Amino acid sequence: MKIGIIGCAGRMGRMLAAETLATNGCELAGGTERAGSDALGQDLGALAGSGPIGVAVTDDAAALFESADVIIDFTVASTARGHAELAARYGTALVLGTTGLDDMTQGAVQQASESAAIVQAANFSLGVNLLLGLSEQVAGILGDDYDIEIVEMHHRHKVDAPSGTALALGQAAAKGRGVDLDQVAERVRDGHTGARTRGDIGFATLRGGDVVGDHSVIFAADGERIELVHKATSRAVFVKGAIRAAMWSASQPPGLYSMRDVLGL
Ligand code: NAD
Repeated sequence: MKIGIIGCAGRMGRMLAAETLATNGCELAGGTERAGSDALGQDLGALAGSGPIGVAVTDDAAALFESADVIIDFTVASTARGHAELAARYGTALVLGTTGLDDMTQGAVQQASESAAIVQAANFSLGVNLLLGLSEQVAGILGDDYDIEIVEMHHRHKVDAPSGTALALGQAAAKGRGVDLDQVAERVRDGHTGARTRGDIGFATLRGGDVVGDHSVIFAADGERIELVHKATSRAVFVKGAIRAAMWSASQPPGLYSMRDVLGL
């Protein structure tokens, strides 16, 4: 299976390229970077730390979508629309890990999934996908005597907040309670906020150091508190999940899939 990596010089991109080269049955079709990147023209294998493979990094995303079976994209939100449209144009499966997409971009991804298989997840780790299921289940059991707060911490370079995973956990808890997250989300608190509104789902964001990704879903009632916690200590968990999603997506009909579909959860 020929896999192309968009954003191949990024933190995730380099690891995805290396893992593709190390995975039986997978071939690295190529990699792209943004126009002006120092990585353009460099050998993709060398960039990934796996030794030269004779494939140079380009900025030609269309050519990569045309030649690969599956594209993996972990870049920046502003590029997601264009990449989803290329997936639709060439019928190429797309594994989309970029977070922070606005509603219009998300709509474009949804539309592209009518013509291509797209696996989109805010978090490709097995642990977080289990946590999503547990959060939905616990929220459904407890009801709104239990205040739900979601706390996340990431490294100092992260550009979007709350994290895509924190929002996905909020969606899961809201689904368990049978409410719409947009109606109950309290994404920022500052100054004289007044007392907490019953039924709200609150978010708190921490940034610092090299934290790969910590998430807690807290259910706080009078007299007790339940905390569901996940801590990622290596990006390898996202990389392995994304490669698994890529191998799964190549044989799927057009549609928008989640990591829970890939894992059969
Ligand atoms: P990063 O900044 O290290 O890498 C992003 C790369 O994309 C950079 O090399 C940048 O030059 C490149 N890029 C930007 N525009 C491009 C374009 N038009 N074409 C090709 N390349 C382009 O960031 P990162 O830590 O690797 O994270 C990337 C994204 O993945 C973020 O949105 C992050 O939140 C998300 N992420 C998701 C998961 C998950 O499991 N879903 C896990 C980790 C990170």
